[in-house]
Amino acid sequence: MTKQKDGNATTTFPKKTLGAEATEPALTPPPTTSNNAFVKKPRLGPSKSRKREIPEGLWNKCPRCSTLLYDKELDENLKVCLHCQHHFPIGARERINSLVETCSFTEIDADMTSRDPLSFPAYADKLVRDLKSGVRKDAVVTGLGKIGAHRVGLGAMDFAFLGGSMGSVVGEKLTRLIELGTEKKLPVIIVSTSGGARMYEGMFSLMQMAKTCGALAYHAKQRLPFISVLTDPTFAGVMASFATVGDLIIAEPAARIGFAGARVIKDTTQSELPADFQTSEFLLEHGLIDAIVARKELKTTLEFYLDFLMSGQKKIQSPTG
Ligand SMILES: [Zn+2]
Repeated sequence: MTKQKDGNATTTFPKKTLGAEATEPALTPPPTTSNNAFVKKPRLGPSKSRKREIPEGLWNKCPRCSTLLYDKELDENLKVCLHCQHHFPIGARERINSLVETCSFTEIDADMTSRDPLSFPAYADKLVRDLKSGVRKDAVVTGLGKIGAHRVGLGAMDFAFLGGSMGSVVGEKLTRLIELGTEKKLPVIIVSTSGGARMYEGMFSLMQMAKTCGALAYHAKQRLPFISVLTDPTFAGVMASFATVGDLIIAEPAARIGFAGARVIKDTTQSELPADFQTSEFLLEHGLIDAIVARKELKTTLEFYLDFLMSGQKKIQSPTG
């Protein structure tokens, strides 16, 4: 303002405006001009959108019942809505902690990280971005732990890392976990959440489908159980490989599970799809999965299944068996 009117600036006007600036804030509501950025920015925030009224990291709004949930309470409830039982996404480490006995989990291949074998555009940047959290180094965490009285090989996928996609590292970590399970005669449990094979690694990703299933075939030859747990969402290359070859396949309630997306299927078949298409409930009814288990009951249910499945294993290994 003053620069534009430099010609007139030698008059008394500049002094008047300076005086007004000093007194106005005390007498009137904050002016709409942006002189005091420090004071105004936080106050303008809430009026812009409803979302910003909620301080980040304290509250979560349930997408199903719209209830505001206090983060701490949500965490204590294993990220399940206290009102409508909606299952929020949960990270691999939280998942593992919710399943194993305290301090019984030993991670394997923790430092294995992905390369960019095809120099796929933007892949390296995305890897760096998702590595920043420092929580996990790829889309799966694997290791040995105890569930109830049973030692198990346990893998949990993490959707927050590149959509839980299966590239070379995810495939290799899972294969090593299964092979370790075979060697140590342990049951294997894999909790999946994935958008499918990692397209940034092209054929290398697709090969993981055969590799994981091959390892599971050797595991099965030893008559060892593999339990696949499907969580929201599990799709494509993961569903077309290890996730659907479990001796038992269980899923969380209302999880979206499928191979191709519903829109693609609808366009291809040119037909209306049922409202609950590609949900756990639909797949249970049609026989693809064996049970739907709520997150809070997953640990005790797995214990129950392991008791049953491993009792047969003990008989096989005993001399009389
Ligand atoms: Zn809810």
